[in-house]
Amino acid sequence: MIVWQEYIDNSAAQAATMRTKAQLVSVPAVHTCTGRSRNGLRSKADRIGACAGRISSLYATNEKKILELAARGALFVLNHSGGKDSQAMTIGVRALVPAKQLLVIHAVLPEVTWQGDIGHIWDTAGRIPLVFTRAVKTFFEMVDHRQMWPSPDNRQCTSDLKRGPIEREIRRWIKQHKLSGLVVNCMGLRAEESPNRAKAETFKFNQRNSRAGREWYDWLPIHHLTTEEVFATIYGAGEKPHWVYAAGMTRLSCCFCIMASKKDLCTAAKLVPELYARYVAKEQEIDQTLTMPPKTGRVWLEQVTGVPCEQGREGKNV
Ligand code: SF4
Repeated sequence: MIVWQEYIDNSAAQAATMRTKAQLVSVPAVHTCTGRSRNGLRSKADRIGACAGRISSLYATNEKKILELAARGALFVLNHSGGKDSQAMTIGVRALVPAKQLLVIHAVLPEVTWQGDIGHIWDTAGRIPLVFTRAVKTFFEMVDHRQMWPSPDNRQCTSDLKRGPIEREIRRWIKQHKLSGLVVNCMGLRAEESPNRAKAETFKFNQRNSRAGREWYDWLPIHHLTTEEVFATIYGAGEKPHWVYAAGMTRLSCCFCIMASKKDLCTAAKLVPELYARYVAKEQEIDQTLTMPPKTGRVWLEQVTGVPCEQGREGKNV
């Protein structure tokens, strides 16, 4: 388990600063549902009534299997990016599963994610144990090594910088705490985000990770929620989303995601100009555009955003 106290302290301080900037004046109260029954599982009525928002519909997805796994003592791992979907998922699953069976894991991507993401997770996870992990290489080291950006068809950034380190921490946590190896890995993907995500199975047995005594399931608890319902879940639980949403972003993740919308790239270019300059310079250096070229040809980041950059694309037709 990697817990970077210094990193966390810095990020918590950054989060406090950014909260003030975004006029999110007070630290949101962490909502903790109470009223567990003797075996640790709340009654259905309690669960549905306890938290505002759309948690009841979350419970309705794969209800029987989830309750069975919770009763068998499964470890429910919440993959948390610091974004709204992770936060709503955490609120929902926290209301269904005993706290002692929960674990939040965040994969840190140094330099390329938003200020305050760690502090935000820290502030809102409740009494759930938190693990921060990271890959050996950074996003830019990965790009330098391959001399290309990751792409939607080859998302090495997700597999190497997020999924791999998180799965490693889950295995480590099971071993360290002498757990049975029964795992439900929860992710905040939603159908509304893309046609591909809409087709994703909301609950499945994970053959690849079910080895060496482990029985591993993947669950998408908020797959069916709309964006509006996600925010309603957060505010309904007495929490606030990360400051970037108030600043105009629609997604959190990396500031400049390879799959981001034009609007988000444009907003990020204005919010983090130094990092923007680094991406623009890297496009020039490796002679590749960050975003996938449309049929009409390559479109450089400055062309996508319309935000000129001082260290822009000299010699290119921008
Ligand atoms: S947010 Fe985008 S760029 Fe960052 S790791 Fe995920 S897919 Fe890759």
